Amino acid sequence: MTDRETETRARGSLSDRWGPTLDAAMPWSPPPRRTIVLAPHPDDESLSSGGLVALQRARGLEVVVVAVTDGEAAYDPDGDDHLASRRRAEQCSALRVLGVDQSAIERLGVPDGRVAESEDAVRDRLEKLLRPGDLLVTTWNRDVHPDHEACGRASVDAVRAIPATLVFSLFWTWHHRLANEIDRRHLLALELDVATQATKRRAIRRHASQFRSPGEDDPILDERIAEPASWSCEYFLAAQPEEWS
Ligand SMILES: [Zn+2]
Repeated sequence: MTDRETETRARGSLSDRWGPTLDAAMPWSPPPRRTIVLAPHPDDESLSSGGLVALQRARGLEVVVVAVTDGEAAYDPDGDDHLASRRRAEQCSALRVLGVDQSAIERLGVPDGRVAESEDAVRDRLEKLLRPGDLLVTTWNRDVHPDHEACGRASVDAVRAIPATLVFSLFWTWHHRLANEIDRRHLLALELDVATQATKRRAIRRHASQFRSPGEDDPILDERIAEPASWSCEYFLAAQPEEWS
C-alpha cells in the first residue's frame, strides 16, 4: 500500500469523507443525445457510468462504447493475452446487461497501462466518431490512474474540435483524493432508480476476473473498493475544457 493509500484510508470511510460534497451535487438528467462512453479498461463503463448507460438505452438512445484497452495488465504488468480475451468477453456480457449490443463496442486495443503513449490516436479516433451534440463520458483527467487521466485529456482535446457535451466519471478519485480536490460547483448527481441500481450491480458482477484473481494476487476489486459503484447516485464532473485541462 502506498503512503497516500494509507493516509486516505486513515481519514475514515468514503461516505464520511465525501458526504457533504455529494450532498451539494447538482441533480442531473443526461441530455437525450447519442452517448459515447470512452472506457479505459473493461469494467470502467459499468463501475462509473453503468447507470447512465442503462438509463440512456432505456430511453431508446444510441450508446457507443469505445473500449480503449483490454485490461490485460490488471495482474501482470507485462500483460496476459488470456486475461485480455476474458475481459473482452466480460465487458460484452456486462454491456448486454446494460442494453448495449456487441456491435456498438469499438475496440482500440491500446496496451493496458500505456494509454498516455497513444493519447493522440485516441483523440483522433474520438474526433472521427463524435458528432456535434453527442454526450461524451469518460474518466476524469485527474482520476489517479494514468490510463483514466489520459482518456480524460484526449476527450478534452476532442471536444475542443467537436462541440459535444463532456462529463467525467470518477472512480479512483473517491479513494485517493480529498473532497476539496474537486470543484463541487461542477459535480452532477444522476439519481438511479432501484431497478437501474440492480441492473448496474448485475453488470458489474459480470467483470468476475476483477473480483477474483486468476492467480495468487489480491483481486483488483472488493466490496470496499467497489463501494462508490453501489451508491444510489452516479456522480459526474461537468467538463469545463478551459479549466480542467
Ligand atoms: Zn479503469
